This record gives sequence, C-alpha cells and structure tokens, in this order.
Amino acid sequence: PRLPQEMTPALPSAERVVLVVYQDVSALKEAETLKDQFISLATHELRTPLTIVAGYADRLLIRAARGKEHGLDEWQREKVQEMKQASWQLASLTEDLLDVTRMQAGQFALERRSTDLVDLTRKVIQRLQATTDKHQLDVQAAPPQLWATVDTFRIEQVLSNLLSNAIKYSPGGGPIEVMLEEHAETHEARFRIRDQGMGIPRAQQAHLFGRFVRAENARAAGIRGTGLGLYLCRELIERHGGHIDFESEEGVGSTFFFSLPCHEPAPR
Ligand code: ADP
Repeated sequence: PRLPQEMTPALPSAERVVLVVYQDVSALKEAETLKDQFISLATHELRTPLTIVAGYADRLLIRAARGKEHGLDEWQREKVQEMKQASWQLASLTEDLLDVTRMQAGQFALERRSTDLVDLTRKVIQRLQATTDKHQLDVQAAPPQLWATVDTFRIEQVLSNLLSNAIKYSPGGGPIEVMLEEHAETHEARFRIRDQGMGIPRAQQAHLFGRFVRAENARAAGIRGTGLGLYLCRELIERHGGHIDFESEEGVGSTFFFSLPCHEPAPR
C-alpha cells in the first residue's frame, strides 16, 4: 500500500547523517599481543638448540676432513652437510624473526663504528662468490676507501641479503654487478646491486619491503624464502639515516640501490 505523503520518510540532509560504527578491537589486540609473545618466545627458545646442532654439524665435518680416525663415509658426509645447511637456515630465520620482534618492541640498537665500506663490500662479495659458480660477482668501487660510521655487522647483513637475493632469483646464473660510489655533495655512499634474473612483477613492486611479502613469480618458481629480508634491509638502512629502493622488470632483471651517510672526504 502507498504511504500517505506526510509519512514518506524524508531523505536526511548531509548534516544530519551520523554513522556510528562500533567494532570490538580488544580481541584483535589480544591476538596481536599473543602473536608477538609467541614469536619472541619461539625465537629465544629455538636459538640455543639450533646453534648447538649447527655447531656440531660444523665440527663433525671439520674433524672428518682432518683425519681417518674421525672419518665419515660419503653418505654420512653428505647428510651431515645437509644437516648443517638446514640448521643454519633455521638459525638465520630465527635471527631475522628476533630482529623484527626487537625492532617492533623498540629494543633494537645499532652499534656504530668507523668502517671502510669498500673493504666491507669486497669481503661480503668474496664470501658469497664462494657459494656459487653459476654467477659472476663483480665489484666496481670508485674510491679506494670510503669511511662511514655504521654498524658493520648490520651493513654486511644488508649487502649479504641483497646479494644472495640477486643470486637466488637468477636461477639461470649470470653476472651480478655491485657498484659503490661516493656522492661528494651529499656526503653519501651509494650502493647498486644489479642482476639479470627473473625480475619483480609490477603488481607486487609497491609492497615489496613489507613484512612477509614475496612476489608471485618467485613463489611460482618454487624458490624458498620468508619475505623478511627486504623488510629488515629497509629498517636497517633507514635507521642509519639512508635510503633504499629498487627498479625491476619481470624477465629482465632487478637493480637494488641504497645510500648511507659517510664521512666528509679527507682533503687531498
Ligand atoms: P625472501 O627472499 O626470503 O623471500 P626478501 O624479503 O629478501 O625475502 O625478498 C622479498 C621478495 O622480493 C622475494 O620473495 C622475491 O619475490 C623478491 N625479490 C627480492 N630480491 C629479488 C631479486 N633480486 N630479483 C627478483 N625478485 C626479488
């Protein structure tokens, strides 16, 4: 039945519309806290046993390499090698989770000291070159030395993450270029790591530095990862007062670059 004219509800004017949305966030907050507590506990409790397993696997291999009386046969050596690799992988995931938890709890501190970035870069490259013979790691450092006050261990971690990504996401092999130069006007050290690997699909580029974010093509290719490395890289670089970003084209390759404030160049 039609309503009489005076009973037709009038449309409210914009001023009169008040939308009240109640949402109970206490359950969400509790879940967040529980998750953080779980990560923190799990990481602390995992750390010690993992270091023991990884350490003993290491020692077994070293002793086996030394002499016959501690010898391992081919099969045993291969299995201990696999144990060592798996436990170091878990240990490093644990360390990453622990870093994330510390950062979020405001309990993360850098330990800075004066460091030659050229020397640091060469060392990291040498270490990673030893892990692959499919990739050629090439360094081009403009200055012979480049001093900055940084947390050496953390900058090694950033470089090592970016380089191992360049290796991991170039499954067919290929050259990987590392460039390091000094930008005199801004007193910055600028790093660039270029690979010719699988690249990053455009759709995932905007969120790549987020926690646990992984690109579709990396998953589809069955390459394992956690999506924590780049999150930590950005946190670490920004905590040093630097900046990190990348350019990439799927199927062509990626270039990651970051800057760090460095000391004023010594007068020549
Ligand atoms: P992980 O490698 O453990 O997954 P990262 O946080 O280091 O985590 O990287 C996040 C994602 O970014 C990777 O899963 C991958 O999809 C993509 N990615 C990072 N570096 C490269 C690269 N050099 N080439 C192609 N994709 C990359």
